[in-house]
Amino acid sequence: MNFAQFPRVFLGHLNTPLEPLDNLSEALGGPTIWMKRDDCTGMSTGGNKTRKLEFLYGEAVKQGADIVLTQGATQSNHARQTAAFAAKLGLDCHILLEDRTKKTDDDYTRSGNVLLDKLHGASVEYHELTADMNAEMEKVADRMRAEGRNPYTIPGGGSNPTGALGYANCALELVSEFNDLDMQVDHIVHATGSAGTQAGLIAGLKAMNVNIPLLGIGVRAPKDKQEENVYKLACATAEKLGCPGVVKREDVVANCDYVGEGYGFPAESTIEAIKMLAELEGILMDPVYSGKGMAGLIDLIRKGHFKESDNIVFVHTGGSAALFAYRNDFQYN
Ligand SMILES: *Cc1c(COP(=O)(O)O)cnc(C)c1O
Repeated sequence: MNFAQFPRVFLGHLNTPLEPLDNLSEALGGPTIWMKRDDCTGMSTGGNKTRKLEFLYGEAVKQGADIVLTQGATQSNHARQTAAFAAKLGLDCHILLEDRTKKTDDDYTRSGNVLLDKLHGASVEYHELTADMNAEMEKVADRMRAEGRNPYTIPGGGSNPTGALGYANCALELVSEFNDLDMQVDHIVHATGSAGTQAGLIAGLKAMNVNIPLLGIGVRAPKDKQEENVYKLACATAEKLGCPGVVKREDVVANCDYVGEGYGFPAESTIEAIKMLAELEGILMDPVYSGKGMAGLIDLIRKGHFKESDNIVFVHTGGSAALFAYRNDFQYN
């Protein structure tokens, strides 16, 4: 896996820390839990999109783009980080935000990530729930081309083979850390949405012939659909890396039992997980992604899914900026 062959902008704070969560492990009385702190990747409070955007913006710059377009849910972390990269690189940024929740309160529609999109100077347009937002975005890009601009479009979540390279590279970072610590890791767990994180990780692991089981906790789609999305993208990513065929369908495992009411709606277990990590570890999870991923991990530990002797690494994908959009879900005075 030669990542230097791909254009890249080096704006992330990498490598991210790998830390033991002693208090959480003790409270759950189960396996030893470690956290890969990809909430600390830098660029507008950090998160998993930083690693993807390093490669996506590498391509945008190489193609001489003058404006970058992307799309996401109203409280998209990906949109916020895309806006921050554009600001740093002196490019314009235009974001299409899709209303997936029909929430109308000010916190949701104006605070959190929406505030930060605007603070980074991005222009924003709002859409109702739409079947194919990437297609909507391409229409806007075509209009811009007709006006003489050179737009670069990034799909939702930055999840294409270029973006997923960031997480194949993260797999390399993780495995080298495990080796340096002489650490036998039994499971890697993280939240999975638009599929790029899991696809990149599995492509990277399999390209190195590392067979640590990877579990994605879903935040939107049902299990079959989520696994199929991840599998397709993982195969394409492995091919881009020069290792076609290393990913098998059975390498892709998602558990979609923790979605709750739907995308963008924290379940009771999400809120409990966020509070546990805040109170026990001083770590901020988010209500849409990492909080659901952590709720899944906690519940699986309680159900005895893992051995007490296991080492589990949870990849914290970030998202804390969205907490301020979900103030009401915590019911503090
Ligand atoms: C986008 C996102 C995810 C999901 O990653 P995908 O690559 O889209 O599957 C997880 N956590 C946070 C905080 C995110 O913003």
